[in-house]
Amino acid sequence: MKKICVLGVTGSIGTQTVDVVRNHSDEFEIVAMSAGHNIKLLEDIMKDIAVQHICVQEQRDKEYLEKKYPHQCFYSGTEGLVQIATLENVDIVLNAIVGFAGLLPTIKAIQSHKDIALANKETLVVAGHLIIPLVKEYGVKLLPVDSEHSAIFQSLNGEHHQDISKIILTASGGSFRDKTREELKNVTVEQALKHPNWSMGAKITIDSATLFNKGLEVMEAKWLFDVDYDDIEVLIHPESIIHSMVEYQDTSVIAQLGTPDMRLPIQYALTYPRRFPLINGKKLSLSDVKTLHFYTPDTNRFKALDLAYKAGRLGGSMPCVLNGANEQANSLFLNHKIQFLDIERLVEETMNAHQWIENPTLEQLVEIDQWARYYVLNRVGED
Ligand code: NDP
Ligand code: MG
Repeated sequence: MKKICVLGVTGSIGTQTVDVVRNHSDEFEIVAMSAGHNIKLLEDIMKDIAVQHICVQEQRDKEYLEKKYPHQCFYSGTEGLVQIATLENVDIVLNAIVGFAGLLPTIKAIQSHKDIALANKETLVVAGHLIIPLVKEYGVKLLPVDSEHSAIFQSLNGEHHQDISKIILTASGGSFRDKTREELKNVTVEQALKHPNWSMGAKITIDSATLFNKGLEVMEAKWLFDVDYDDIEVLIHPESIIHSMVEYQDTSVIAQLGTPDMRLPIQYALTYPRRFPLINGKKLSLSDVKTLHFYTPDTNRFKALDLAYKAGRLGGSMPCVLNGANEQANSLFLNHKIQFLDIERLVEETMNAHQWIENPTLEQLVEIDQWARYYVLNRVGED
């Protein structure tokens, strides 16, 4: 029985993880979980599955739950996340928190010898230079949950690293893939939230529309698979059937295909190297799909990819700046405070204003993240 701690259980990935675990309850058990502010959904999940250790963001929510459920253990805040991620009986931490907040619990979980199933890509973007050496030092597994990275991971099975020629990350192109630059000026939050292929949390859905999501994924791939930025290519593939590919030195290309369903990469991260049936999973019928399309991304219409490659190549503190500025700008757009194209503009301005550091520590990353957010708020007069 694999014992799991799910961070971000009330989110899109978190609820799908509960589904996967429920469908294989003889193999997995959730022994700890965290929510942010959605206490109503957390209580629904608690009715469904018996979990002993539960963390919430606010102290007042913890007190409310303690009174109502006296037989369970409740925790709060960042300290609580670290406590549940490092519990003695946890084997693997599935991190499905959104944003920079996922970093510290990941680090502490690795240092407590837990395997990590990582959905929280921001962790690797800002601190890949800290995480990867820690994973090696503590001898834990770091398993990708992001669908593209799961596809690459699967396409690398049994291969030799030196035989890789390049990684081809596919991208749906997001909600606005066919819009002109002029049309992008006036798109609304509601339009941005309508992703053509995937139902996901709000932040990543906006990131998909700006292509910052793909930019973050390029950096995530660099750290997970130890490849140079020159050897990571992004390809727009509107159908989201090929989840990504690896090209080898002998020109062979190995890909992973399937209908878009995040439960598959979630489940594979938990069952690896085994494969279990995906309950209620829709099988891929290529004769129904018939045609697949591919084209190179238009970096004149969407500037996020170039910014991400630039930040990634510079390395050091710059990915943290890109990420922090993007999280803040994304949230301002979601709250109707700025326009869609302001997101990439604000990220670029913040990157230009940053005093670069080569090898930031965790403490420095926390400060740089805060600085990037304040810088964005300041630019739009919201500080
Ligand atoms: P959601 O917004 O749906 O869920 C986020 C979860 O994290 C919720 O449980 C939320 O709690 C919790 N949370 C948010 N902020 C904090 C915080 N500061 N401290 C503690 N908990 C917090 O996000 P998704 O599930 O869509 O995405 C999660 C991660 O997975 C992201 O990094 C995303 O990029 C990645 N990912 C997601 C995919 C998807 O299909 N959704 C695909 C690939 C990667 P609450 O809601 O209770 O406030
Ligand atoms: Mg992805």
